Amino acid sequence: MPHNPDKITERLFQAPLKYIQGPSAFRNAGKYLSALGNAPLLICDSVVYNIAGNDLVNNLRMASLNVTYAEFIGEISTQEIDRLTEYARSNHVDFVIGVGGGKTLDCAKVIAETIQTPVASLPTIAATDAPCSAVSVVYTPDGHFDHYKFMKKNPDIVLVDTSIIAKAPARFLASGMGDAIATHIEAKSCKQSVVPWGGLPTEVSGAISEKCEEILLKYGKVAYEANKVHAVTPAFEAVVEANTLLSGLGFESGGVAAAHSIHNGLTAIDALHGLLHGEKVAFGVVVHLILTNAPSSELEKYIEFMLTVDLPVTFELLGIPNVTDEELRAVAKLACSPRETIWSMDIGDSITEDKVFHAIKGADAASREYIRRANWVRAGL
Ligand SMILES: [Zn+2]
Repeated sequence: MPHNPDKITERLFQAPLKYIQGPSAFRNAGKYLSALGNAPLLICDSVVYNIAGNDLVNNLRMASLNVTYAEFIGEISTQEIDRLTEYARSNHVDFVIGVGGGKTLDCAKVIAETIQTPVASLPTIAATDAPCSAVSVVYTPDGHFDHYKFMKKNPDIVLVDTSIIAKAPARFLASGMGDAIATHIEAKSCKQSVVPWGGLPTEVSGAISEKCEEILLKYGKVAYEANKVHAVTPAFEAVVEANTLLSGLGFESGGVAAAHSIHNGLTAIDALHGLLHGEKVAFGVVVHLILTNAPSSELEKYIEFMLTVDLPVTFELLGIPNVTDEELRAVAKLACSPRETIWSMDIGDSITEDKVFHAIKGADAASREYIRRANWVRAGL
């Protein structure tokens, strides 16, 4: 049974107003961002400020924008949002620019929504879906999940500088690929369910998530290697777009399913807290495929892809080789919490905690066997 309790019949698609990507995007930022106002609040953390923020502020001032800079400190908590919102109000800014990773961009979106101004997302890594989406994840000051904040609209401008993204460690790009490869797999599993903003998926969101996967499978490995030497190649550009734009639009208007519920379930294990979002989603993808009974050839296609970009597909690669059944049952329980996206799958009614527990174990076993066989072939035995 699809997840559509209100019997909604409208299809819904939403997106940012403008997406711009290229190796000189930040240098040309004034040209694009001046369309949103004259006096922006620019927020980024101190690390990002030294890498990109300082130059960006200078570029914007040269384009006659009256920029107010505010440092984003620590966690995207209600307290930090309130502090920066107050700062924005007292400086009479007319739009907000977030520069950095997902948390900074999410924070900028909430501030802009509160003071009712436009917002621009300027990601410095290609690791999350935050830049394009109309949702922010809010945490407690000590870093635990607090709530989702759904915005009335998507960011007005998403500006991606690939020469900045290429300077970040390749692990972030790989993690973004782990998140992005889930997009099509999850969308296919909840075609009949309402998406987070309350409509049914469109044909275009399906096409976008399909294209996202095609790019990752074709160019993911090459882009990952290019990133390691900070090279902006056509493959790198394509994968940054897949991770940021295609995955962002695909998940938001196509639906999210078991892979992300497994990600959330994995937060039950303290030893995994150091992993990036997409690294946990990557393992969740394998569990999702086992749960939906994907044929071996399809399963192995994705396991192979994950391994080529160093994404974890076994307990050992996740760093928990001795995980117990008791811990895995806790993961399954959390993944099956009442508000989880696992229930939006078209097979949602047949899913149980016990089935998810078995799928988690099955995923590890399938990936281990694939690795064993691949090494066996490589060794020529
Ligand atoms: Zn995600």
